[in-house]
Amino acid sequence: MNDPALETIVSLCKRRGFVFQASEIYGGFAGFYDYGPLGVELVNNIKQEWWKAMVREHDNVFGVDGAIIQHPKLWEASGHVAGFTDPMVEDVVTHKRYRADHLANTDSTDLAELKELLKDVTSPDGNALSEPRFFNMMMQTWVGAVQDSSAVSYLRPETAGSIFTNYENVRETMRAKLPFGVAQIGKAFRNEISPRDFIFRVRELEQMEMQYFIRPETQAEVYEDWRTFAWNFLIERLGISKDNLQWHEHDEKERAHYAAAAHDIYFKYPQGFKELWGTHNRTDYDLGAHQKASGKDLQYFDDQTRERFTPYVIESSVGVGRMLMAVLVDAYNEEEINGETRVVLKLKPSIAPYRVAVSPLLKNKPELVAKAREVYSTLKKEFGNVMWDDNGNIGKRYRRQDEIGTPYCVVIDFDSLEGDTKDTVTVRNRDTTEQARVTIDELISHLS
Ligand code: ATP
Repeated sequence: MNDPALETIVSLCKRRGFVFQASEIYGGFAGFYDYGPLGVELVNNIKQEWWKAMVREHDNVFGVDGAIIQHPKLWEASGHVAGFTDPMVEDVVTHKRYRADHLANTDSTDLAELKELLKDVTSPDGNALSEPRFFNMMMQTWVGAVQDSSAVSYLRPETAGSIFTNYENVRETMRAKLPFGVAQIGKAFRNEISPRDFIFRVRELEQMEMQYFIRPETQAEVYEDWRTFAWNFLIERLGISKDNLQWHEHDEKERAHYAAAAHDIYFKYPQGFKELWGTHNRTDYDLGAHQKASGKDLQYFDDQTRERFTPYVIESSVGVGRMLMAVLVDAYNEEEINGETRVVLKLKPSIAPYRVAVSPLLKNKPELVAKAREVYSTLKKEFGNVMWDDNGNIGKRYRRQDEIGTPYCVVIDFDSLEGDTKDTVTVRNRDTTEQARVTIDELISHLS
C-alpha cells in the first residue's frame, strides 16, 4: 500500500521514535513537536544532503547561521510586523479560531471574497462564524529587564531576515561577485491560527532557505534554474517519486507581500497535494527596504560595467518538517510477503537513519556475539550510522529494521565461524528481502 493515511504515519513516527508530541506528558502543546532518536538522524541526513547540494556544490553559495532574535526594526522594514498575517474567523460560541481561507477552501486571502464564500459556512462545531479579519503570526517576546512596549522583540518568522542584513558582510568577506547566494538552515516561529496535519503546519518550524543575489535582467532565467534545482533535489537526492510532486503557481491574491512571482512544489501528503517548497522572486524589495530603514548603502557596484544598483533576489525556501513528512509518506509501503504484511520504509540509503544493522543470530552465544561485535565496529568506522540489534528473533529484527528503513541487515551465524563459510556473513536487502552470503573482507564494498 502506498498513500498511507495520516494516522498511519503519526503512529509509525511515535512507535519507532521518529517524532513525539512536545510536552506529551502534559497533554502535548498544539503546534510543537520533538524529534526522537530516529527522527533526529533522518532529519540531520536530510539537512546535510541539502547543505551539500546547496552550499558545498556551488562555489558561489555561502552559509550563515543567524540569531533567532534580531533587531525589531528588521521585521518592521521587511513588512512582517504590519503584513505577516493570515485571514482568521472565530467561532462565536467556542471562540476557537480558524484560518478563513482553509474553511472556505480557497487560496485567496481577500477579505471581501472570503466573507462572501463563508456566508453560509459554520464552524467545525456547527456554530456561526465571525467576519474574517487579519491576524498577525509573529511571535513576540521581550528582551531585557523591562517588559514594556519598547522591549518587544520577535522570534524570526523566516530565516531570510538575517541573510538580507548580512548581505554586505558576506559579499565583502567572501569577495563575492553577482550572482551569489547565501544559505541558512534554522528555526523560525509562526503563531499559526490552526496548527494541524501533524508536522505539516506547526508553530515552531525549521527552514532551509537560500537567497540568490542577481542582476535584475537575469531574474527569469535564474528563477527557472532554482525551480529546477528544487524539483531535482527532491527526486534525485531524496528519492521522492515524481508522481507525488506537482507545480503550483501563485496568482496575485496568493503571493506574499514581497513576491513578483512564486512557484511552489506541492507534495501529495495524506491530506492532499500541499505546499512543500517555494521558489520566489523577491525582486529588490528586501535589500531596498533594509537600505531605506537602516540608512546603510546596500547597493552593488559592478566594477566591469561601472553600474551601481540594488540586486534582485531569487529565494528558495523549504520547511525541514514538511520535507521529513514527505520523505516518510513517499517511502512508506505495506507489502504482502508469504501471506504476511510487512511495513517497509524504502528510504534512499544515503538518508536512512541507519545504513546497516548488525546482529548475532543468537544473543546468548558468546562466539557469535564476539564475531558480530568485530563486524559492527568495522562497519561503524566506515559508515558511522550502524545499529547493533540483538533483540527478539531474527524475523522480528528484520521487521523492525524494515519499518525504520535500514537498507541492509548483516547477520553473523554459525556458518560465519567455521568451515568453508568461515568469515562470511549474510546480508539481507530491505527492498528485495533477498539474502546474500558475503565475506567479511568484501562487506564494506558490497554495502557501499
Ligand atoms: P503556507 O501557505 O503553507 O502557510 P507559506 O507560503 O506561508 O506556507 P513560506 O512563507 O513560503 O510558506 O515558507 C517557506 C516554507 O516553510 C514553506 O514552503 C514550508 O515548507 C515551510 N513552512 C511555512 N510555514 C510552515 C508551518 N507553519 N509549519 C511547517 N512548515 C512551514
